Amino acid sequence: MNTVRKSYIETFGCQMNERDSEIMGQLLNNADYSPTNDIQQADIIVINTCSIREKAEQKVYSLLGRLRKLKEKNPALIISVAGCVAQQEGERLQARMPLVDIVLGPQHIYRLPELVSKATLKGMPQIAVDLSPSFEIPRYVPPSPLMFRQKDERPVSPDHFKKFVTIMQGCNNFCTYCVVPYTRGRETSRDPDDIITEIMALAEHGVKEITLLGQNVNSYGKPLNNGRQHTSFSKLLRKVAAIDSIKRIRFTTSHPKDLSHDLIECFAEIEKLCPHFHLPVQSGSNHILKRMNRGYTAEEYLAKVDTLHNVRPDIVLTTDIIVGFPGETDKDFQATMDLLKTVRYHGVFSFKYSDRPQAKAVAFSEKIADEVKSERLSCLQDSQNKISLQRNREYEGSIQLVMIEGLSKNGDGQWSGRTMGNIIVNFEGPSTLSIGQEVAVIIKEGLLHSLRGALVL
Ligand code: SF4
Repeated sequence: MNTVRKSYIETFGCQMNERDSEIMGQLLNNADYSPTNDIQQADIIVINTCSIREKAEQKVYSLLGRLRKLKEKNPALIISVAGCVAQQEGERLQARMPLVDIVLGPQHIYRLPELVSKATLKGMPQIAVDLSPSFEIPRYVPPSPLMFRQKDERPVSPDHFKKFVTIMQGCNNFCTYCVVPYTRGRETSRDPDDIITEIMALAEHGVKEITLLGQNVNSYGKPLNNGRQHTSFSKLLRKVAAIDSIKRIRFTTSHPKDLSHDLIECFAEIEKLCPHFHLPVQSGSNHILKRMNRGYTAEEYLAKVDTLHNVRPDIVLTTDIIVGFPGETDKDFQATMDLLKTVRYHGVFSFKYSDRPQAKAVAFSEKIADEVKSERLSCLQDSQNKISLQRNREYEGSIQLVMIEGLSKNGDGQWSGRTMGNIIVNFEGPSTLSIGQEVAVIIKEGLLHSLRGALVL
C-alpha cells in the first residue's frame, strides 16, 4: 500500500506565480506531501493560474476538464485552483467545475495545508478569496529540503543555484488593461530583515543568483508591511549585494514611473547587479499611455532609458508592448514602432490587447478589430526580430561571463548558460564543467534568441 502522499503543481503565467508555486510546494512538503511530476500519482493537484491573458485562462479550464476522469477514479483526490483566475472567479469557478475542492487567491497560498485539512475532514469545498487591504506577506517560510541538492551532490539543475525571492506583492497603479490590483490586492512590501534572512538561508545551500520579485519592485518599501518604517529598493539591493556568496542579483518587474535616479546609480555601483532591465513601456504613444493610465510619457520614458545607457552602456533592455489597445490609431502604432527603433531593445514581449474581466478598459469604446491587431503584432515582431539579431551580433568577438545552466537544448552536447545581461549562450566546453559554474566564453555568433561561443581556456 502506498502511504506516501504526493503533490503535483502545475503553474501558469509569471515568475511571481512560479515562486508562489514553490512556496505551496514547500508548505505541502512540510505537511508530508512529497512532490511528483506524474499527475496520475498525485493525492493533491494544485493549478496555479494566471489571468493576465485570455489564453492562459482558457488553458486552466481545459486542464480541469481533463482531470474529471482522475477524480472519478480517485474521489479522495484533492484538486485546488490557486492564483489570479481563482481570485477573480471564486465561487463561480467551483460552481462551474464541482470537481474543484479548494479555490484560493494569491493572498491565501500560505493557508494551503489548513485548507487541505478542512476540505478532507469536512468533505466540503473551501473558497478563500477575500482580499485584505492589510494583507502581510508571512515573515518567513522555512525552505524545505526538496528545494536543495544534498551537500555532496553536483548541481543538476539551475534550481540548485538560482532562486526567486518575493519582496513585495500587489499593485496600486491600476493600469486600465490590468487585473493585478483586483487579484493580488494593494501593494505590500516585506521587511528587509526577513528578505535578507531568506536570502542568507538560500546562500548557505549553495544559491548564487537571486531574482527579487514583485509586481513593481522599484516601489518596494513604500510602505512596508503594516506601515512600518519606510525603505527603498536601492537600499535593499545594497544589503543583498553585501552577502558574500551571492554572485548575481536580478529583479523583475519594474514600473517606469517609479524608476529613481538612485536605482539607476545602483547599476554603476553594484558589480553583482546584473545589467539587465525589464522596463515595460506598453506603447510609444502618449495618447495611448494616458488611456492606459501608465503615469509617464514616451519622452519621460526615453529620458530614463538614456540615463540608463549612460550609466551602464552594456545594459540589456527588454520590454512589454500591447498592440491594439482601444483607440490605438495607425499614428499611435507608428509611435510605438519609432520607440522600438530608438531604444533598440534586446528583446520584446508583445501581445494583442484583450479585455480582462474587472479591468477598466473593458468599458472603453473604439475597440480594435482582431485582424488589425494581428497585422500590427506581426509588423512589430518582424521589426523587433531584426533589432534583436543586430543586438546579438554586436557581441561577436566579445568575452562574456556565463553561468552554466545545463546542456544545450539543441541536443548537440554543448553547454548552455546565461550572461550577466541574461542572454542565453550555447558553447563548446569539456564535460568536466558543471552546472552553476561561471566561465568566460568568447562569442562567435549572435543569433536571434541566443549567442554561440567557445570556452576561453
Ligand atoms: S503596474 Fe499596471 S500592469 Fe503592472 S501590475 Fe500594476 S496595474 Fe498591472
